[in-house]
Amino acid sequence: MQLSAEIIAIGSELLGPTRVDTNSLWLTEQLNDIGVEVQLKTIVGDDGARLEEAVADAVKRADIIITTGGLGPTEDDITRVSTAKALGRELVYHDEIEAVLRERFQRWGRKMPEINKRQAFIVEGAEILENPRGSAVGMLLELGAKRIAILPGPPRENQPMFTDFVLPRLKELVGDVFVARRVMKIVGLGESAVDEIAAPIYNSVERASTSILFNKTEVELHVSVRRDSRKEADADADELARRLSDAFGIAMFSTNGETMEEVIGRLLRERSETLALAESCTGGLVARRVTEVAGASAYFGEGVVTYSYEAKVRLLGVRQETLDKFGAVSAECAEEMAAGIRERSGADHAISITGIAGPDGGTDEKPVGTVFIAYAGPNGVASRKFFLPGDRYLIRWRTSQAALDVLRRALLKASQDR
Ligand code: AMP
Ligand code: MG
Repeated sequence: MQLSAEIIAIGSELLGPTRVDTNSLWLTEQLNDIGVEVQLKTIVGDDGARLEEAVADAVKRADIIITTGGLGPTEDDITRVSTAKALGRELVYHDEIEAVLRERFQRWGRKMPEINKRQAFIVEGAEILENPRGSAVGMLLELGAKRIAILPGPPRENQPMFTDFVLPRLKELVGDVFVARRVMKIVGLGESAVDEIAAPIYNSVERASTSILFNKTEVELHVSVRRDSRKEADADADELARRLSDAFGIAMFSTNGETMEEVIGRLLRERSETLALAESCTGGLVARRVTEVAGASAYFGEGVVTYSYEAKVRLLGVRQETLDKFGAVSAECAEEMAAGIRERSGADHAISITGIAGPDGGTDEKPVGTVFIAYAGPNGVASRKFFLPGDRYLIRWRTSQAALDVLRRALLKASQDR
């Protein structure tokens, strides 16, 4: 059975500009893993009336409700009172909780402040969830077929509590559901183009869910299928991934979450070949990405950043006439850069990048976002002109992705031709 969940993150700090609700991300992953879909997340400040309303609403809609935070001993810790009100239940004092707290304070050589007594109040009928890492116990309530878990705010407290006490109970409720997830990545297409191709495929699969997310350099397609056995789930997820991969062809560079730089690294390693880079407008971003992968030294020895004409001439052997005649942002310059670094480094493959990242420097003929990427390999040199949209930041990132993708395609093509 597909159950739905809602998560309520409690704490005024989470509404400010400095603290982020990370609890719900972790909880969502846990819930998705057992086939539960999170349909709504709410962040509520330390405001009793609003929290009461949020909990009451969530109980009307969802099968599983999880709250985090607001279980501390101070006046602004309102979760106990507000959830009790929302559920129409009393708060019941438990002297054994207070005894545990007193004993813990004693061990630390401190006297328990009287306000900590608040933490011994439990919503009537709730199961008490122990918290060996903090003073706030959690609660688990059954409301007919619904489950409500009330957890403390700190991740190091609520995560083990969820894993040890809540998850096993939710698994019982959900039954044996096995979820297999695949993360696929596509380069060179926008979100809507990706969805146009992908939707007929994922819509034809039962008990599957898909999300499409745009990253600064690629579109990610997350698919998950829910099945009654692990084997079925894995097989059907693989089948779905294979169909999607067939539909996208070479534009899909990853079917298992690999990054573009990891894919490049894998392809170069498989071939025992090496790479060198000559960058202008990306200022070393491509080299940074390539070296993000552990073990990159096996295939990457050098990259140069040649920003000025003079550096392009001196370090790469670009001809002054080329620069005078065509400018630095040109196919001719890009090709000389790539050939130059390949020859000087002795690498098997070389990529060069020259373009206009903006915001200034664009012309009618070569507007901001004009980028030339050249590839030099065993079979010669070729370049491509790109027009990449966005601000300076995005243009530089998209250029780095286009450059790595030019290399990826060249590597794949070379092995096809072989
Ligand atoms: P509380 O239980 O409200 O006293 O929360 C205690 C601490 O837990 C906060 O100061 C945060 O550091 C952390 N915390 C609370 N809620 C969250 C959340 N949704 N995501 C991540 N950390 C949180
Ligand atoms: Mg708080």
